[in-house]
Amino acid sequence: MDYEKLLERAKAQLPEESEGGGERFTVPKVRGHVQGVQTVINNWAEIAKMLDRKPEHLLKYVQRELATPGELIKQSAVFGSKLNAAKINEKIVQYADEFVFCKSCGKPETRLSKEAGAIIMTCQACGARNTVKSRI
Ligand SMILES: [Zn+2]
Repeated sequence: MDYEKLLERAKAQLPEESEGGGERFTVPKVRGHVQGVQTVINNWAEIAKMLDRKPEHLLKYVQRELATPGELIKQSAVFGSKLNAAKINEKIVQYADEFVFCKSCGKPETRLSKEAGAIIMTCQACGARNTVKSRI
């Protein structure tokens, strides 16, 4: 796998600081490597921070989706099998669609809360409240 290219692409896709808020937020790409039978993602905490979600929550979702155990070690996530970076990126985008982006306006400025056993996403940008269907 060509991680140099992956890294370049991740850098190229980082949102500009001067972003006026009108553009769609880009989900960051994973950076990592396969180590023996494990896959180490070095920028896990960074990705979670950009999504404004807990690294544990993101990990729980991705490990379930990929049916692979994972654990957090400092800023990294370590998965118990060899994984394709593209596959992990895909699951992070899926996570963002379900847990981060507002269903009404598509902006990532949302907060999750639990109400009567359901997860409610409240958007700070447009004020919409939507129920999150997926459970972790
Ligand atoms: Zn919204």
